[in-house]
Amino acid sequence: MKKDKAVVVFSGGQDSTTCLFWALKHFKEVEAVTFNYNQRHQSEIEVAGKIAKELDVKHTILDMSLLNQLAPNALTRDDIPIEAKEGQLPSTFVDGRNLLFLSFAAVLAKQAGARHLVTGVCETDFSGYPDCRDVFIKSLNVTLNLAMDYQFVIHTPLMWLDKAETWKLADELNALEFVQTKTLTCYNGIIANGCGECPACILRKNGLDTYLNSNNSE
Ligand SMILES: [Zn+2]
Repeated sequence: MKKDKAVVVFSGGQDSTTCLFWALKHFKEVEAVTFNYNQRHQSEIEVAGKIAKELDVKHTILDMSLLNQLAPNALTRDDIPIEAKEGQLPSTFVDGRNLLFLSFAAVLAKQAGARHLVTGVCETDFSGYPDCRDVFIKSLNVTLNLAMDYQFVIHTPLMWLDKAETWKLADELNALEFVQTKTLTCYNGIIANGCGECPACILRKNGLDTYLNSNNSE
């Protein structure tokens, strides 16, 4: 039996689009929320809007441009290059981003009468984002419930999956082609397979190749 209503934190990328399909399978009613924080590529917002429309999901865009004011970084500023140095947080890091996003999503969800929150955070490809960890999500779940006197359930379907397994999940949800051709992960703002050169594209492609190869050898 499908549960009632869920709000998906949605960026239009591979992970959150897979989560959106996952939510559509498990919940009677699904809404999506996208945060606008002057991403390096505004096309991210457009892509998210297009996908939500195509899947007939109510889509709310919340202005979070203050994030740029708090933490200017490579995702929001064109003059800071994207790089990941060994042992350091990548330059795409915004302190507390998921904390803020999930808190705002929770306020929206309660207003919409939804108890379920879905987010694509993942500990497996842990790149140093402390608020992507399972322990943080569990802690925040308790905090949100106490803060709003409401029984939220935060779902993290990708928490323990690597990129190849995330592609597998998309395939199981009959969404492999959709995710492959319509989502935007690339830091250079190119949808589908992207520029092929930025860290996000390389991660995405390696995962897809691994999944498709394991599929072929079965
Ligand atoms: Zn790219």
